[in-house]
Amino acid sequence: MEQAADGDWVVRAITGASTAKVYRCPGCDQEIRSSVPHVVAWPEHGAGVEDRRHWHKACWNARDRRTPGVRRSRNAPKF
Ligand SMILES: [Zn+2]
Repeated sequence: MEQAADGDWVVRAITGASTAKVYRCPGCDQEIRSSVPHVVAWPEHGAGVEDRRHWHKACWNARDRRTPGVRRSRNAPKF
């Protein structure tokens, strides 16, 4: 579980599944093939499976840069 500015999140690392499913990363709006290692995260108090989101690992780690109201002590790179 991770604590973040936007709440508590349950995070699972996906090492790469054999299914052909494709997810869309909410961080960069690019597709994630399920064969690619990534993370799936959902709010701790979420309703269920529908709340789960698949993210690139880097996008998940960078998501707080995109959260309004969160200030970082150093300049974050622009994308
Ligand atoms: Zn992404």
